[in-house]
Amino acid sequence: MFLIAGVQPKTRRVDESPQRCPSCGLAQAYATRVDHYLSLFFIPLVRVKKGTPFLFCDRCGRPVDDVRPPAREVPPSGAETVCVACNKAFDSSYSYCPHCGQRA
Ligand SMILES: [Zn+2]
Ligand SMILES: [Zn+2]
Repeated sequence: MFLIAGVQPKTRRVDESPQRCPSCGLAQAYATRVDHYLSLFFIPLVRVKKGTPFLFCDRCGRPVDDVRPPAREVPPSGAETVCVACNKAFDSSYSYCPHCGQRA
């Protein structure tokens, strides 16, 4: 008997709230996980491998490396940086100016 069995990756979004992509600076990156399922006749049956979450940016169309725990707020570091391009102040935890996108 011939069985069509195999391991298929399944991509699932872990968190529906967008996070800021460190690559393009826009909040269009989502925590994503790729699980691997043992499938039979193309129906996923058993999860054989649970993936580790990573950020996938919809805008960049690729995973972004910087994976942080889903912290909702900017840590109150109190330190501020002034953008060289637009002269507006923003928290130094940003690597890009949230006002104009200038790299900090
Ligand atoms: Zn991006
Ligand atoms: Zn700026």
